Amino acid sequence: MSILEKFKPLRAAHDRLKALGRDPFSVTFDDIVSPTEGILDGRRTVLLGTNNYLGLTFDDTCIEGSIDAIVRHGTGTTGSRIANGSYDEHENLEKELAAFFGRRHGMVFSTGYQANLGILSTLVGKDDHLIIDADSHASIYDGSRLGHAPVIRFRHNDPEDLAKRLRRLGDAPGARLIVTEGIYSMLGDMAPLREIAAVKREYGAYLLVDEAHSMGVLGARGRGLAEEVAAEADVDIIIGTFSKSLGSVGGFCVSDLEDFDIVRLACRPYMFTASLPPAVIASTRFALKKLQQEPGLRAQLTSNARQLYTALQAQGFQVGPQCSPIVSVILPDPQKAMVLWNALLENGLYMNLALPPATPSSSAFLRSSVSARHTPEQIAFAANLMGRMARELGILEAAEPEPIF
Ligand code: PMP
Repeated sequence: MSILEKFKPLRAAHDRLKALGRDPFSVTFDDIVSPTEGILDGRRTVLLGTNNYLGLTFDDTCIEGSIDAIVRHGTGTTGSRIANGSYDEHENLEKELAAFFGRRHGMVFSTGYQANLGILSTLVGKDDHLIIDADSHASIYDGSRLGHAPVIRFRHNDPEDLAKRLRRLGDAPGARLIVTEGIYSMLGDMAPLREIAAVKREYGAYLLVDEAHSMGVLGARGRGLAEEVAAEADVDIIIGTFSKSLGSVGGFCVSDLEDFDIVRLACRPYMFTASLPPAVIASTRFALKKLQQEPGLRAQLTSNARQLYTALQAQGFQVGPQCSPIVSVILPDPQKAMVLWNALLENGLYMNLALPPATPSSSAFLRSSVSARHTPEQIAFAANLMGRMARELGILEAAEPEPIF
């Protein structure tokens, strides 16, 4: 029997999806010309699904810093952080991240995925308890599988269910680590962090927040949801990524826990992989400065998100429960989602098609992520096109909404 036999059902499901139009898993851009525009099949396409929240991928300072670093330090480090792969710049970025979040310790990983993989598999051991939100990102699930702690899931964004699960643990020995995200990546909803923090205090647990989608987006200084809701003092560990608001690639963890640095010598996804290349570290450092020096970008992002959220609601779409830069339209079934996604692409709009099992409750969405660099015209174009196409395809009622632009 072929070793690939087990993938037959997956192959069949993929084939059924492709029969409805373009393969959503192999979109390849001919070119990317700005944070909000690309060329796809020779057509100019508005990008509304890139996580490029502050639009820093084309920032002149980040680009120049990156070029300078590559010329001075080479294209790669060719080694891991515990061997030859730690340069001054890696440590400087760690110090800058720690300072930005007001914590003593910072660790840089090669991706955000690896940061979750590493921290979750290392920090809790077989005698501890890992308690994660049921709608956690794949990297949180994978990190929990890589480690040895028993894993308990609590109902998405439900502090009472969390408390119930902790209560059931009674006086079992071992530390409890609660894991939540700031803004959830699929629906754009936010954790009730103050309520979760209260449960954490009551049960003497530790709290880790993955601010991948909320760093640079929420909070007076852009530190994320914990800052936005004044819960930072209760958050013991923050995980984040450079691949969203900072416009590069990489991940990090910051903490104020005493002696946190020892994790470097136990965390395999940190120890056994090559460190980030100098060009990436340099652009990330400049982007982190920009994030702090230009709060106007965050204000623009918030206003753009509000424009899209309101416009899609006015079109008659069901959107996520809270307005954030992730605006998802919830569709009746995966087939309709696929057909609409294709129609939008053919008319110059790229969004993310989110299908089960990546979506909560087996639903299907068209997911957008707004950038500070989107113009009001691009957002209006997107919302109007989505409404028109959804009506033409019978996904929305035929009646036109009142124009709001
Ligand atoms: N955590 C969350 C909540 C995410 O959404 C993502 C990426 N989608 C990651 C972690 C992983 O980040 P990276 O792209 O840096 O691997």
